[in-house]
Amino acid sequence: MANKTEIFALFGNPVAHSLSALMHNAAYRKMGMEALYVPFCVKDIAEAIRAARVLGIRGASITIPFKTDVMASLDEIDPSARTIGAVNTVFSREGKLFGFNTDWTGLLAALRTHFDPAGKTFAILGAGGAARAALHAVRQSGGGPLLVNRSMERAQKVAAEFGCPFLELSRIGAVRADCLINATPIGMSPHADASPVCREALVNFKWVMDMIYNPLETRLLREAREVGSYPISGLDMLVHQGAEQIRLWTGVEPPRALMREIVLENLT
Ligand code: NAP
Repeated sequence: MANKTEIFALFGNPVAHSLSALMHNAAYRKMGMEALYVPFCVKDIAEAIRAARVLGIRGASITIPFKTDVMASLDEIDPSARTIGAVNTVFSREGKLFGFNTDWTGLLAALRTHFDPAGKTFAILGAGGAARAALHAVRQSGGGPLLVNRSMERAQKVAAEFGCPFLELSRIGAVRADCLINATPIGMSPHADASPVCREALVNFKWVMDMIYNPLETRLLREAREVGSYPISGLDMLVHQGAEQIRLWTGVEPPRALMREIVLENLT
């Protein structure tokens, strides 16, 4: 009898810390799917993609440091992933490998559980792949982004691509916006005592979202809560970007609440 188990992979380096396998496998079990999600620590992403083709892997998540490099090994790239310049999701369909980005749809889903981004202003901290996903998400949802970064050279380049204003991170205290999004690693464990924005400046934002989910409540989110802003955890984005991958691969809506519970259980 043929083995019907669908295989999904995570390609990254490192992957040992990743909670994606727990989250995905719990979702497949609940959905009654014969599917397995397996993390692989890879050295060469082109080789990993060649192996995925040979092995008939149905889909793959792509994480640090391969989200840009993987694009050269795929047959087609979705226009949003092309604009962002990063692929975090590979989908095998009719013998071809397609590249998508669910960081931006995951971020939007996380924001939308709190408010409608249309017509809102956003200060986005960072100019890397996560910030580019946030810029695209805000643009697509009808919001107005301001890019705020440490390196002015990089900020200028990215802001020109997305057609938005930019500012140096040291001047964040002068910024007022509906929502602040931290797309830098500042405050991530083991440097949990750091924050990209001083506490006093946080009153200038009604919502403060941190893409970091370890720790669950970063210093930025704690201080935002303390000054009366609404904190939005990076955990929500993590869960929604994973859920969007499952929806793409299977066409079925996954159990998002369960996925969130599983990650939460394993974070604390
Ligand atoms: P990245 O490409 O390395 O970009 C990092 C950005 O942060 C750069 O613009 C860099 O500024 C800035 N930065 C780094 N260290 C800094 C410091 N000490 N002071 C000031 N600025 C600093 O990283 P990324 O892939 O975009 O990811 C950013 C964060 O988002 C990470 O924490 C990642 O874990 C998180 N993330 C979360 C999710 C989720 O699902 N929750 C998804 C994707 C990413 P310069 O340009 O000046 O170097």
